[in-house]
Amino acid sequence: MYDVIVIGGGPAGLTAAMYSARYGLKTIFFETVDPVSQLSLAPKIENYPGFEGSGMELLNKMKEQAIKAGAESMFEKVNTVIKSNNGFVVKTESGEYEAKAIIVATGGKHRELGVEGEKEFVGKGVSYCATCDGFFFKGKKVAVIGGGNAAVAEAIYLKDIGCNVFLIHRRDELRADKVMQDTLFSKKIPVIWNSVVKRIEGRNKVERIVVYNKVEDKEEIINVDAVFIAIGLQPITEIVKDLGVKRDSRGYIIVDREQKTNVDGIFAAGDCCDNPLNQVVTACGSGAVAARSAYKFVTGVEF
Ligand SMILES: Cc1cc2nc3c(=O)[nH]c(=O)nc-3n(C[C@H](O)[C@H](O)[C@H](O)COP(=O)(O)OP(=O)(O)OC[C@H]3O[C@@H](n4cnc5c(N)ncnc54)[C@H](O)[C@@H]3O)c2cc1C
Repeated sequence: MYDVIVIGGGPAGLTAAMYSARYGLKTIFFETVDPVSQLSLAPKIENYPGFEGSGMELLNKMKEQAIKAGAESMFEKVNTVIKSNNGFVVKTESGEYEAKAIIVATGGKHRELGVEGEKEFVGKGVSYCATCDGFFFKGKKVAVIGGGNAAVAEAIYLKDIGCNVFLIHRRDELRADKVMQDTLFSKKIPVIWNSVVKRIEGRNKVERIVVYNKVEDKEEIINVDAVFIAIGLQPITEIVKDLGVKRDSRGYIIVDREQKTNVDGIFAAGDCCDNPLNQVVTACGSGAVAARSAYKFVTGVEF
């Protein structure tokens, strides 16, 4: 019997696990490879105070610290969470674990474009992770789709490792932070504005994309070797659906400022929640608050 089970080993989950263990609660956190933490895909982190380096480096440091604080670590995929007499049972792919309180920090998974050729060419030129697959396309022409921080970060990374990269964005301005945009433009990475990818084509691998310019109402065929898709996140919250945890229309868990959900004993933190900002620093903050709320719930101590 655990006091707290944290589902997620990203910045939100690891911070929650560290705080929970430091409160003296018997704590375990779960993580998996599908999906991995979004932080592990970030080529470079420059906006987490006090740290500069790769996302993977930061993640490993956070994990070490959570374990050092006394949290147990488990590499198992959680399938569902149900209510029990003593609290909750977390059912994983290979076992069952009971806890008085649950912190959901499952983050999200990449959104798909939903165009012809996308599924067919995954692993053959279609990728959702420049850090993982960019290396294979050094010196090749690659397109990045998206206009937020993740897309711009991927484009910059691909340029830095020697790809001939350009960005395709459906609007006439980017959503990415100004500092990211400045880097993108200073590296002379071209942007194809007001455009969407209609089809990804090729024989055994990606060879070209058909791009539609919405303003000019014109289609263009562009030869590319790879397409990196970075158009946002699909939250992973199905595992608490049957518990009656309220989610918004896009699937994000609705929490109050103490990271409480509508179900007593279930808390949530990080990118799986309806946040105004999905970043490492906010994920960590919400993880700490969730652990405090779980502590109050488990012990009945008010502070
Ligand atoms: C390319 C890229 C670049 C980025 N750059 C930056 C940046 O420069 N600065 C910044 O602040 N942010 C950046 N981000 C965003 C940042 O990575 C996320 O906001 C952050 O990782 C969210 O943390 P999280 O803990 O909520 O979720 P995640 O980090 O996604 O972690 C989710 C965890 O839940 C686990 N999980 C999910 N489902 C299950 C399950 N069923 N069973 C068990 N475990 C499960 C996963 O294995 C993972 O461990 C970037 C993201 C990307 C993709």
